[in-house]
Amino acid sequence: MLHRFHRKIMYKIKIINRIPVNEIEELVKMFIPKEDYTVTVDEALAISQSFSVVFEDKRLSEPVNHFQFPGRDPGDKKELKNAVKRGIYTALSRHLNRTLPWGTLTGVKPGKIVRELKEKGKTEDEIRTHMKDYYYLSEEKTELLLEILHNQYPYTQVEGERSAGIYLGIPFCPTRCVYCSFTSNTPKKDDIERYLKALYREIEYVGSQMQKTGWKADSFYIGGGTPTTLNEDQLEDLLSKIFREFDLSGCREFTVEAGRPDTITFEKMQVIKENGIDRISINPQSMKQKTLDLIGRSHTPEQIREAYATARKAGIGTINMDLIAGLPEEEPEDLMDTLEKVIALGPENITIHTLALKRASRLKMEDDRYHLRHAEVLEDMVEMSQRRMKEAGYRPYYLYRQKYMAGNFENVGYSLPGKECLYNIRTMDEQQTMIALGAGGISKRYFSAQTRIERSANVSNFEIYIDRIEEMLDRKLQLLFA
Ligand code: SF4
Repeated sequence: MLHRFHRKIMYKIKIINRIPVNEIEELVKMFIPKEDYTVTVDEALAISQSFSVVFEDKRLSEPVNHFQFPGRDPGDKKELKNAVKRGIYTALSRHLNRTLPWGTLTGVKPGKIVRELKEKGKTEDEIRTHMKDYYYLSEEKTELLLEILHNQYPYTQVEGERSAGIYLGIPFCPTRCVYCSFTSNTPKKDDIERYLKALYREIEYVGSQMQKTGWKADSFYIGGGTPTTLNEDQLEDLLSKIFREFDLSGCREFTVEAGRPDTITFEKMQVIKENGIDRISINPQSMKQKTLDLIGRSHTPEQIREAYATARKAGIGTINMDLIAGLPEEEPEDLMDTLEKVIALGPENITIHTLALKRASRLKMEDDRYHLRHAEVLEDMVEMSQRRMKEAGYRPYYLYRQKYMAGNFENVGYSLPGKECLYNIRTMDEQQTMIALGAGGISKRYFSAQTRIERSANVSNFEIYIDRIEEMLDRKLQLLFA
């Protein structure tokens, strides 16, 4: 695949006013650096000419190319948007001699599209044709989505309208990674205690309201941040509180994201295990010391192995390990070396992320063109890792994409058969209510009759969360319990 960045060319895209500019930009920025294009609404464009793409060469007085795509009105906003995206994709793809593996798809959850097609009774071959002709998806990505659908389908059938997954966030980490765009803070004295006090208020409220109104939790996930930033006593207190306040008799899965290896101790693992929790996550990201230093992780690859052995020694049965493809200065061989080392440990789940650059991350601010330069390398990394995971007996079981993701790629969760994480599948599938506690948690209520989701977010700043905890409870009341 050839990448040609025509630094002297300005791409001027105009669209009809019935299409959201941001969605078109999501697509265009996968081809061209931000400073080299504009997307604007042209009120004068007729429905039969819903967009235009003009390539202006700054060295010439006239535009070098001009695409104006006449089309018929599909009569539906979504159809029109997709037709315009296909047209713009074709124009840019021809001009830059480049295709995108995900075609015109810019959404975060492409798996939902294939599931919906299956539920409408489409055969696999019909789904393949649709993904290729309608979204210009590559064959590899379509096959990946179909395989994931097959592996996760048994877990997507939710038990009743009042069944929910619960997320609880601990927004603290020992230090901040350079690529981080999550709600994460390095705690100062008393921060954790003050936060837990407010969180306990939310746990008590949500626990009792759920019991009163007949909600049942079938999965529970403690994420962050890094929940194991809490010391042993704080962790024990938190878990006891959760088990006291929630009815978890029907809970099929409980996960604690331990995350950073430098926060894992035998005592904390024992606390987790003794509370009946058997699933954790240890996230190396890379097994290369130089990379760990570069991204601000203050631990060694050896600490990752030790943390893993410690968790096993405490009896933890299911471990996920997160890796990142596309970390600074890493080549495909570095990722493959990390992958081999992680596979050799034998975790039940491995999740391979592609470096996502969001607005909040320091790395993005430092280097805005990073993701386009590395797209080619990343493509190799993604393909190689997918092949190797298959050989090692892991099956892809969930996938999501992120905005600002390097090179338009994806995060894929792999699992040994039967060890899939229910919570991950259902969060992405969005056919179940998710109740989120803690700073930055976004609760989503699913209304199956209308296949509709309503959201309510807790504030992400933990200080404001503490100050306005009663307001957070009120938001939950409105969304879930009123
Ligand atoms: S461990 Fe995760 S949440 Fe914490 S700073 Fe690093 S990327 Fe952010």
